[in-house]
Amino acid sequence: RIVYMNGSYVAESDATVSIFDRGFLFADAVYEVTAVLAGKLVDNKGHLARLERSCKELGMKLPVSADELTQIQRTLIEKNQLTEGGIYLQLTRGNEGDRDFSYSDDIKPTLVLFTQQRALLDSQAAKEGIKVISMEDIRWRRRDIKTTSLLPACLAKHLAHQAGADDAWLIENGLVTEGGSSNAYIVTHDNKIITRPLSNDILHGITRASLLKVAEDCQIELEQRAFTIEEAYEAKEAFVSSATTFVWPVVAIDGKTIGDGQPGEIAKKLRSTYIEMVLAFTQ
Ligand code: PMP
Repeated sequence: RIVYMNGSYVAESDATVSIFDRGFLFADAVYEVTAVLAGKLVDNKGHLARLERSCKELGMKLPVSADELTQIQRTLIEKNQLTEGGIYLQLTRGNEGDRDFSYSDDIKPTLVLFTQQRALLDSQAAKEGIKVISMEDIRWRRRDIKTTSLLPACLAKHLAHQAGADDAWLIENGLVTEGGSSNAYIVTHDNKIITRPLSNDILHGITRASLLKVAEDCQIELEQRAFTIEEAYEAKEAFVSSATTFVWPVVAIDGKTIGDGQPGEIAKKLRSTYIEMVLAFTQ
């Protein structure tokens, strides 16, 4: 693979980061993942806008503009002949040659991007749905900022896998916040989608924003409110969304079958309509 690092395109084995980089020492870093379908960037404007917001919230300076980032992403797609998968982008605050909690205002950031080849359209999870288990959300209180402090998510997914499930749904004060690395939704028996409203409690999913528009176009009712895990057990459908999954149906929660145990009609409709839309309109 050819990767991008601080202004250069290099072989992945030549891309090395200092042990004093604050991304390594403190997870002092932000990231984005943009899906690539048919060699095109999916919802990329939204991802770059969120990156700019994450940087602003943490006082980090992006060394390149959003347009330049898009150019770098396109160059990587071309150099690696990527047709389907994603582009990972990470910006760390940088390194000042030692371990020190504080940093100077003119610290120079580290920017890396790399491609990941992965099947997005033809996945077993999309066809058959996934099983999740619920657990307490132990993350910090700024989940709206997309930082690389992902230890709680790694632990949650590992626990889920150990329990024979595919992912976690996180709970705070009795209410579902989101999935381990996705936004969470249920569908009521009168076909209304329920998903938690935007706040600092969840990541403002770019796929979520697109799906809300798709739901509106398809005239599917939607209510933005928090829901309990008990409400989810009784739901007609459940599903998750993210850039790397688009929409995956959830067919079991905590060992309880959701609906008839098959991917729900609304989840399938949102997935297929979203994919049609991105194939038609992405550049
Ligand atoms: N919530 C969390 C915690 C996530 O990690 C992700 C994926 N990065 C999402 C939601 C979905 O966001 P997006 O649709 O922008 O990928």
